[in-house]
Amino acid sequence: MTTTSPAQAVLSGGDTGWLEDFYQDLHRHPELSHQEHRTASKVAERLGEWDFEVRTGVGGTGVVGVLRNGPGPTVLLRADMDALPVREATGLRYASTVTTDGDSPTPVMHACGHDVHVTCLLGAAQLLAAGTGHWSGTAIALFQPAEETADGARGMVEDGLRSIIPAPDVALAQHVLPLPAGRVATGSGPVLAAADSMRITVHGSGGHGSMPHTTVDPVVVAAMIVVRLQTVVAREVPPGEPVVLTVGSVQAGTKSNVIPDTAVIELNVRTYGEQVRTQVLDAIDRIVRAECVASRCPKEPEFEVFGSFPVTENDHEVTERVTGALQEHFDDVGEMGRWTASEDFGDLPAAFDAPSTYWALGGVDPEGYERAARQGRVAQDIPANHSAKFAPVPQPTLDAGTRGLVVAALAYLKPEADR
Ligand code: ZN
Ligand code: ZN
Repeated sequence: MTTTSPAQAVLSGGDTGWLEDFYQDLHRHPELSHQEHRTASKVAERLGEWDFEVRTGVGGTGVVGVLRNGPGPTVLLRADMDALPVREATGLRYASTVTTDGDSPTPVMHACGHDVHVTCLLGAAQLLAAGTGHWSGTAIALFQPAEETADGARGMVEDGLRSIIPAPDVALAQHVLPLPAGRVATGSGPVLAAADSMRITVHGSGGHGSMPHTTVDPVVVAAMIVVRLQTVVAREVPPGEPVVLTVGSVQAGTKSNVIPDTAVIELNVRTYGEQVRTQVLDAIDRIVRAECVASRCPKEPEFEVFGSFPVTENDHEVTERVTGALQEHFDDVGEMGRWTASEDFGDLPAAFDAPSTYWALGGVDPEGYERAARQGRVAQDIPANHSAKFAPVPQPTLDAGTRGLVVAALAYLKPEADR
């Protein structure tokens, strides 16, 4: 006699042959953050076909589908939908040639694989809907806008998400990353960094390049700040604490012999805990202000924080349970480790005070990955997320991503007798 687990029964219960075409269509039609109209309508249409209660326009273009299937826990599965302003260079048959309308057209590409996430969550939604005889509880499929701008999840919460869906007992999500396709990797604790971007305007006093003594040169102040900021990680943060502080942009002046009035610095900080995050942001504030005083700037510097992502903190118990369930269905469940990338997924479970876990999904042709790994050249040879050459292989990526979501959800959505 053979016994079939509920997950096996659900996984074999629907025809997901359409996923690859659907994925390639999404890939060909990427949409920037907050503009995911076409994607959202495709998602809503599918969810409606499978008897989900569907709400659209949540926080702009967000879509939620709720499938109530008897008593039991509520599980939220989340995918992000937005693409990036990148000109695709993958050479794929289904590569994007999309640019935005307007005077300065911007190329658009699914360079972070959110098209994979949308497709897999729809695949999982279909399987859960087809297999309602094998589980009990409530499944929520949430498609959020604008992950890349860090405000899509928060936008849905601020638009009343808490009164639109039942409160989840657990929230789950995944991200396609440069790991071998077919592999999933999980991890407990902080797996993705908190990120903060900051724009700092330094005020000097401009004048003729030949008479610097009549000016306060903001170019020099900005240069001092950039150098001095390197000491935050090197000299202030404990050596075992992973922190990144990158100054990605310095803008000042127009001409070699004109001293400008202002300089603008843009920087980005990655941290794995609230305490160290505050320590680093405070240090930046202190150093910038002190350098301005040291150079006798006529006006206080201005600080504008934008694009703040929370740390992605995986709950230990949820991660153990989901990992155990995944191990029953995948040959290759790895350890996720810490990535310096960032996510706004955490804003969703935080809004409901629900525990969550977030795992990595491989998207790289396994043979190519092994070859690069043997030569120690994964970082150089495998295009990562946000690269113009980022090109997850559709299979087995979509299949693994779909199965992973179903299996993880069913770790909670069990018939009462099995719970
Ligand atoms: Zn991204
Ligand atoms: Zn992403």
